[in-house]
Amino acid sequence: MAGIIGLYGYDPVWKMARFIYYGLMALQHRGQESCGISVYDGERILCDGRAGMVDQAFGEAELEALRGWIGIGQVDPEPPKGRIVSKPFFAKCPIGVSLVCDGSAAGAVEAARERGFAAEDPQGALAALLSKELADGDPFGAVERITGRLGGACNFIALTERGEMIAYRGELGIKPMVVGNFGFDYGAIASESCALDVIGAELKADLSPGEVYLFTPWSIERRRIGEADPKYCAFEYVYLARPDSIINGKSVYEVRRRIGERLALESDVRDADSVLAVPETAIPFALSFANFTKKPIEMGFVQTGRRVRSAIRPTQFERLVGVQLKLNPIRAAMAGRRVILVDDSVVRGTTTKNTVKIMRNRMGAKEVHVRIGSPRIISQCPFGMEVPDKDELIAAHLNEEEVGKVVEADTFHWLSLEGLVEAIGLPRESLCLGCFTGEYPGRGDRN
Ligand code: SF4
Repeated sequence: MAGIIGLYGYDPVWKMARFIYYGLMALQHRGQESCGISVYDGERILCDGRAGMVDQAFGEAELEALRGWIGIGQVDPEPPKGRIVSKPFFAKCPIGVSLVCDGSAAGAVEAARERGFAAEDPQGALAALLSKELADGDPFGAVERITGRLGGACNFIALTERGEMIAYRGELGIKPMVVGNFGFDYGAIASESCALDVIGAELKADLSPGEVYLFTPWSIERRRIGEADPKYCAFEYVYLARPDSIINGKSVYEVRRRIGERLALESDVRDADSVLAVPETAIPFALSFANFTKKPIEMGFVQTGRRVRSAIRPTQFERLVGVQLKLNPIRAAMAGRRVILVDDSVVRGTTTKNTVKIMRNRMGAKEVHVRIGSPRIISQCPFGMEVPDKDELIAAHLNEEEVGKVVEADTFHWLSLEGLVEAIGLPRESLCLGCFTGEYPGRGDRN
């Protein structure tokens, strides 16, 4: 998973790097390990990629050096293999192209090798292929020729040295992608609508699966290529996307509220004293759980420092450090009480177990009933979302009761799959539910 954004200014006075910077900050939850920006200044494409969070990586001097009125940017959960940072890829064979992407573009490596490019990284391979295909002058045809091998789950935004910006959403529509504008001043494409909000742009629509947008100095054109076969990622609604985003026409916040209600319907605890949320994804779940069951909701935890997504930290040590940093419990909210703890997901179970232990042993909670706003995660994601090996997924091996014992909860419940589909409000056949079912759409690998 990554977060991407592209802004097309209709006047050279725009300094797009600054707007890309703010947009990337709004997409930071989609990747925190590295980030990069490319701009076009009318003559050249300038690229800069750096390790770390956006506001640590880019300062005044770096943004000032990136002068240009068209720009693209990316945040990544980890840099591509063999690289320290995920600088937006640049290729010139023969048309200069810089490209950012979200999703699995693995098929591009083989396609590029067949064309004689020594490509190692999927994103680099995609940039090289696009650069070559653009030479015939038809950007739509170029995108159509290169995307046939991508498996339908890759979105990208490319910037060319001819002054074009090309955005494509894979035909499965797994990853979200929206288009917007700021009047007649600039056009915008982003992974999520929250990135448009922070830069003052207006959300216009989702890109349809398989749709291409082409921005040039003279026009904006769009065209559907390939057969649209929507399989929107259900996990975006549970965990990945920001609650202030609207994706595939659905408010993420409203979906999360419905998840909370559904969770309460499926498994309330009649005698509990209060409801607590594990910040911050689970807050909307817990709010509507509490409203629905007419129980008080309490602030149970304070986050320390930056937001750390501990579930996707690569090592056990980092996960442990992550959870201590992330959540400091408030004793007064739980001591001597029977509490319902609402969280967004359980992957390995380590974080939940630590949290329950601290609540009970150190904070004096009388009972801890765990309710999870995601169905059981039993399988990996072949579409670019980092999910640990199946061996490490607690739900792949234990039933609800057994997991409850492992995490030392008084009772434990995961949202049902039907509950999630209902809460999202889109037809089941238009959703990818792969990590909850092990069955994947399109050409996703099974595991
Ligand atoms: S497998 Fe899971 S995380 Fe991956 S796209 Fe499907 S629902 Fe989303």
